[in-house]
Amino acid sequence: MRRRANKMKRSQDISVLLLGSRGREVSAGTGEFYCPACGDMRPYKRKRIGRYFTVYFIPVFQIEKLAEWLQCEVCQKVFPIEVLQHAPPPNPQRILEEVKKDLTAGMSVQQTQIKLRNSGLRPDLMYKVIEVVIGDQRVTCPNCKHEFLAGAVFCGNCGTKLS
Ligand SMILES: [Zn+2]
Ligand SMILES: [Zn+2]
Repeated sequence: MRRRANKMKRSQDISVLLLGSRGREVSAGTGEFYCPACGDMRPYKRKRIGRYFTVYFIPVFQIEKLAEWLQCEVCQKVFPIEVLQHAPPPNPQRILEEVKKDLTAGMSVQQTQIKLRNSGLRPDLMYKVIEVVIGDQRVTCPNCKHEFLAGAVFCGNCGTKLS
């Protein structure tokens, strides 16, 4: 009887001494986001503070999530997770490069316009971008009237050979 009581007492002491919980900062992944402070796409580190169940003061598993945030790896500023939902404002240089790439790859002016319109670009900017990239270096398909960057051999829309 006395032995059992001793044993119980000891296990209670152990649980008081060795089990607990504490907050702990952990890394919760990385990625790329539009950093409002830098004004550009930046790599981020996602951090989280969780309350951890501890044994011997060593965190074993997370009990609850206390806070989560992102840190820009370039400017080191910290943002709430919701910042990931913010779409970056249109970057003229990036749009220009993409249009150039598409037209060079054989996409027609008309197809490029549809793509830009679907991405939410304002129509006046859309025409301006295409004008800057292609200018009057165009060749028109005699069959479907789609326009291509000069030098294109075949119409990417209907397959007609371009002169
Ligand atoms: Zn930044
Ligand atoms: Zn055609």
